[in-house]
Amino acid sequence: MNASSFKTSRNDYKIYENKQENQTLDILIIGAGVIGITIACALLSKGHRVKIVTRDLPFEERSEQCASPWAGAIWYPFEDEWNETCKQSYFEKQTFEVMQRMKGDTNVKLDYLSQRFQDNLPIFSDDILAYSRTRRVLDQDRISETLKIPWWKDVVVNFCEIDERVQDFTTFSLQPTEYLKRLLDHYKCDRLTFHRGTASSLARAKEQFLPNADLIINASGLGARYLADVNDKLVMPIRGQTIVIKKQSALEVNQGDDQIQSLFVEGTRDGHDMIYVISRADSDEILLGGSAEPDSFSTLPDKDQIQRIIQGTKQYSHHLCADLQKSITDPSIIHTGVGLRPGRKGGPRLDWQEEKKDINGKQILPPVIHAYGSGKTGFQVSWGVAIEVMRMVEEHTMVS
Ligand SMILES: Cc1cc2nc3c(=O)[nH]c(=O)nc-3n(C[C@H](O)[C@H](O)[C@H](O)COP(=O)(O)OP(=O)(O)OC[C@H]3O[C@@H](n4cnc5c(N)ncnc54)[C@H](O)[C@@H]3O)c2cc1C
Repeated sequence: MNASSFKTSRNDYKIYENKQENQTLDILIIGAGVIGITIACALLSKGHRVKIVTRDLPFEERSEQCASPWAGAIWYPFEDEWNETCKQSYFEKQTFEVMQRMKGDTNVKLDYLSQRFQDNLPIFSDDILAYSRTRRVLDQDRISETLKIPWWKDVVVNFCEIDERVQDFTTFSLQPTEYLKRLLDHYKCDRLTFHRGTASSLARAKEQFLPNADLIINASGLGARYLADVNDKLVMPIRGQTIVIKKQSALEVNQGDDQIQSLFVEGTRDGHDMIYVISRADSDEILLGGSAEPDSFSTLPDKDQIQRIIQGTKQYSHHLCADLQKSITDPSIIHTGVGLRPGRKGGPRLDWQEEKKDINGKQILPPVIHAYGSGKTGFQVSWGVAIEVMRMVEEHTMVS
């Protein structure tokens, strides 16, 4: 999310001069990961007509090329790769607030933009959008001051420092596939249509699937690298190896608020390895991770890495509640998995592309909003991104 994405001015554009203010649009979205689906829901809530064309549907099957079903899907910012100018933290904060609304938390103060979704937000049960008591362990003497005191300590709930290396707080933990399915179900209406298929280019997709499209949203994740008229070679996979193990105790399904259910260790990264544990609220599964390997296209599980993850989580398991410790000490592996996060060198892309015409003035491509490359953070920025897309749509459709 480049700072330049935010420089647009209302007077620069009068794209839909033939349309009235507040008129609804026909919008084609490429991609049904968390970014495409969240944007679709936001647009539907504003009365627009939406067609989603997607190769994969995360809640129907898992494909290594679609990151969303593989996500830990916990709200946990990685401040080492982002900074204020990229607006990452802004989107993350907005997403946290929207999720609190989704859980019906009335104590949350909302800013103007997220307020606009208030009436439409679904209420999720604890097993889909759960609060998770989380421990953050700083395991290296050289960890910087900004890492020690994270910017988000006032966003999450009940942040507290246990000692100078250990912090506890409550954050969101989503069940990614079920969350996306229920979100879409909530906004589903006759203004939404789907097509399973692969687009070769945005122009071809419009011609083939929605010839009257006023706007295209490119939420194709890694696919932006391959779409012929996007061809963004800055887009690269960030490989993530995970292991899913079984909870060994029925007690773990009903964890108390004070029990540590997820764990992140900062500063132990060996190469691109990282250590985290996420206990799923809705099932008897625990996700162990992981890795974040830029430019690695391999979707094959790596046996050595799996062993390192198991050893690493065992080493830190004493931070977790007793039942989780037991499961990790003698893990019963359900499956291992690899997901490719859609990364982008230089940061994600969220910007408006003007309509394109041929020399005879015939439209080749309507305006496009590119929204891809969220890397490790797609779930925790998703509502911030959707709100920004809404802002762009409103700004560009307004006739001054
Ligand atoms: C192991 C792992 C752990 C993670 N943990 C977290 C976490 O805890 N918190 C967090 O916020 N994020 C996490 N992430 C990151 C998060 O999953 C991604 O940032 C997010 O899923 C990206 O969403 P997306 O919609 O941009 O892309 P994707 O989910 O990859 O979706 C892209 C969509 O575009 C479609 N597509 C692509 N090309 C075409 C085409 N040519 N034609 C039609 N359709 C096309 C695909 O089929 C797919 O539907 C994790 C990821 C992994 C792998």
